[in-house]
Amino acid sequence: MSSVVSMPEAVQKAVPVEPHAKACAVCHEAFVWFFPAARRRSHCDLCGKAVCNGCLHNEPLSFQEFRMCNTCRATSLPRLRGLLRYPWFHGRISRDEAERRLRTDSSALGDFLVRVAPDTEERPHHFHGGRHSSHDHAAMEGADMPLFILSVRNTPASVAHFPIRGQEGEYFLDRTANFSTIPELVASSMESDMLDRSAVVSADTHFPVCPTCTAALPTALTGSSDNHGDNGDGSSHQQGGGGLPEFCECGARLASTAEARKIFDNIGFEYLHHATTA
Ligand SMILES: [Zn+2]
Ligand SMILES: [Zn+2]
Ligand SMILES: [Zn+2]
Repeated sequence: MSSVVSMPEAVQKAVPVEPHAKACAVCHEAFVWFFPAARRRSHCDLCGKAVCNGCLHNEPLSFQEFRMCNTCRATSLPRLRGLLRYPWFHGRISRDEAERRLRTDSSALGDFLVRVAPDTEERPHHFHGGRHSSHDHAAMEGADMPLFILSVRNTPASVAHFPIRGQEGEYFLDRTANFSTIPELVASSMESDMLDRSAVVSADTHFPVCPTCTAALPTALTGSSDNHGDNGDGSSHQQGGGGLPEFCECGARLASTAEARKIFDNIGFEYLHHATTA
């Protein structure tokens, strides 16, 4: 009943910045005058870019309904909702990348993260394959597509992916319980022992590129010790002294904070292993 919508910032709706654009800034399809309606020109209330109806989704923000493009929804919305400060929030990463982060040598049952599904992935009806996610299909499903996915190391061999449905004010995993915010949903699942420990990612486990957008990352932390080298030995568990930002501009988490990694290490594999198999 109580619709607690905590807004860290008041957000104003943007005016259109490209009123004469011929094509959608997100899907690059040409706009149409009338039909299909999904291809008509509209604009994102957050960035103001010209976007087709099919690439816009309704999201409540600052006590108003915003029509938001996929890009803003994946990057600005989590920031405005305050999700970036939670170690379990890994932003826009793929299913494969989530599984990689949950299957490291030090991960254990109950490790989890919450992520934003990339645009090309994880539509409700596509969970078991089917790669024909066309623009038309996306337009049809519209706002029903889950934006957030809870990924959990649920057995020694597998990672499960649960769509978080609903929107701010009423998120749910299944119909048995609603939560005003995603942090509340996560806290409740932790209390019920479904989730134990926030997955972490350290800068030094990366790749020279962002796992999501493949943008090149600063090379200082990718293992080549000649750059910015105040220590020669490749001690792998140091917080990158001035390296990767926590998040890429595309919305992917690139590194967890040193504090989050310390908590991860302190909770420890053995404890979780016994707790979850007892
Ligand atoms: Zn579009
Ligand atoms: Zn936008
Ligand atoms: Zn990126």
